[in-house]
Amino acid sequence: MPTALITGASRGLGKAAAKLFANSGWDLLLVARSKNDLQSLVDDLKDTGSRIRYKSLDLSISDTIIPGVSDLLSEGNAPSVLVNNAGVAWTGELLSMPLKSWQWLIQMNLTSIFQVCSVVVPSMRANGGLVINVSSHAARNSFPQWGAYCTSKAALVSFTKCLAEEERKHSIRACTLTLGSVNTTLWETDSVQGNFDRSAMLSVDQAAAALLYLAEQPTSQVIEDLTLMPASGAF
Ligand code: NAP
Repeated sequence: MPTALITGASRGLGKAAAKLFANSGWDLLLVARSKNDLQSLVDDLKDTGSRIRYKSLDLSISDTIIPGVSDLLSEGNAPSVLVNNAGVAWTGELLSMPLKSWQWLIQMNLTSIFQVCSVVVPSMRANGGLVINVSSHAARNSFPQWGAYCTSKAALVSFTKCLAEEERKHSIRACTLTLGSVNTTLWETDSVQGNFDRSAMLSVDQAAAALLYLAEQPTSQVIEDLTLMPASGAF
């Protein structure tokens, strides 16, 4: 069975992706903070036959990431696919954003991905692999009140393209999944304010299917970016 490492797998898109991958014959390595949520996901998926290991890890704390992900890798086969899905949002005007919130958001949406890649990508080099970074159409647009988020996702796109060029010689591909709004728990987090029509958003299952589609591309090709938008609603 191929193995995928998925971050942010305890809820939202990451959880839906973990379920879909497990039901599609993938073994899994999962990361999030909530041990309880990860354990109940493993319990839910036990009939799939998927071999699932997880690590409770706070990706906002830079020092713990490399030892934590290394530990997780030592428990399973080297992943052939890495899905950098964990991410956060913060709403408010750019210049009113506390430095601590800025650093937290950039750590979560950009630096932690660099750190996870620095452990996982070398483990892929023997057999090749694919890195899928979950981006947003905020990477390409300027949404007032979402400046830090837009900035982090735009930088993530650039990181992904540079990584792809550098790792090409090792048969490692890197791509982005660019999403419009998805109806997830992100919209309930304390750092996101606003009244959004969640019924018009993409479902987590639609977004998870796009992740699986990218993951199951032949190794001789790469879809460099897949953009998936809801057909109606604001974004
Ligand atoms: P979500 O429902 O809020 O889920 C976020 C996931 O990340 C959870 O599993 C959470 O688990 C984990 N996470 C949060 N903080 C963490 C931390 N400090 N350390 C480790 N894990 C942490 O968000 P989502 O909507 O599924 O977002 C997934 C990705 O899609 C993100 O990259 C987001 O930017 C992107 N995206 C979302 C939308 C949307 O409309 N929802 C649109 C475009 C792109 P724990 O709380 O257990 O740690």
